[in-house]
Amino acid sequence: MYSKEIQNLINEFSQFPGIGPKTAQRFVFYLLRKDSRGREKFIIDLKKLNNIFSCSVCGNFSDKKICFICQDKNRLTSKIIIVAEPQDLIAIERTGEYKGLYHILGGLIDTVRDFGPEKLKIGDLFKRLSSSQIKEVIFALNSTIEGESTVLYIVNKIKKDEILSQSIKVTKIARGLPLGAEIEYADEVTLGEALKDRKAI
Ligand SMILES: [Zn+2]
Repeated sequence: MYSKEIQNLINEFSQFPGIGPKTAQRFVFYLLRKDSRGREKFIIDLKKLNNIFSCSVCGNFSDKKICFICQDKNRLTSKIIIVAEPQDLIAIERTGEYKGLYHILGGLIDTVRDFGPEKLKIGDLFKRLSSSQIKEVIFALNSTIEGESTVLYIVNKIKKDEILSQSIKVTKIARGLPLGAEIEYADEVTLGEALKDRKAI
């Protein structure tokens, strides 16, 4: 129905989260309506994403090897929040309620889709916990089966560790968030309150 150039791009956009073929088609037609200079700018911006890396400490997206949060000497090094994705970190930063560290797992344990703990940055997390001053681990994972299984897996691993189980307090943000809620989409006030009112696990 379309020329190969158009169809290829529709296929690309269709793979984006939450985007079906119809929306993908609208994106491509929007780009086609732009003049070549407008499209060129889009291409350049897209190419610049090649200069973005995962922070070697926390996993946040960054244009440096170590992200601005991990480089910030004013952050509290006694607390660490565990999130699934970089966008969850952004949501928590927006609340302005937290000045500690982060660790991004890169997903959640999902046994149905055969996505096990070995695919997450859990090994890196334990390396950080063992070689730092961290006193509190705060879970801010989606309130879903996948989120809960991931919390359980990590908590059990901490409890099995003789040293970490003594030195680290484990909490999770309060459930002011509705069941099934995604951290990324929670409003700042609710998320800020949930963070202040966290519960020991
Ligand atoms: Zn970082």
